[in-house]
Amino acid sequence: VNRQDQNILLLLNSILASFQAAATEKGVEMSLSTDNEESTSYTLYSFDRIKMKQVITNILKNALEATEKGDYIHITCKAEDPSNLLITISNNGAPIPEDILPTIFTPFVTYKSNGTGLGLAISSNIISAHGGNLTVKSYKEETSFQISLPL
Ligand code: ADP
Ligand code: MG
Repeated sequence: VNRQDQNILLLLNSILASFQAAATEKGVEMSLSTDNEESTSYTLYSFDRIKMKQVITNILKNALEATEKGDYIHITCKAEDPSNLLITISNNGAPIPEDILPTIFTPFVTYKSNGTGLGLAISSNIISAHGGNLTVKSYKEETSFQISLPL
């Protein structure tokens, strides 16, 4: 990975903007929040911008595919402590069936008629290459992907 100091909120906002038209069209509400706007806005974090953009885009694309009119997609970004950045991407909508949950990060495993099954596998590898990890929590009301990045 080609790490450079970046503003994470600028990146998240620009990716969100690129999904806005499709989300509005679908009637899905997208939002972004951060724990401490001041500090997160001015702090630069070291990561590969192009690859991180690919990860967030993959997860948002899945979220948009999993939601329907009236649903939401919510991104949070917080510096848990000075050495760790936590980005979560959550959506409501149909939950991931428990029996397929362990397989979703496996390459070429897809449950979509036109899927590649590569989005989460690639994303997980990119986050691992940054020394972090990509995890999922599946609840009845909400599906949530966590990107944990050591700084
Ligand atoms: P693809 O999108 O091509 O199927 P991915 O690796 O991106 O491949 O995702 C693998 C599988 O994980 C999807 O087929 C889907 O079943 C499940 N999945 C991923 N994100 C979500 C989500 N937000 N809600 C429900 N299911 C999801
Ligand atoms: Mg996908």
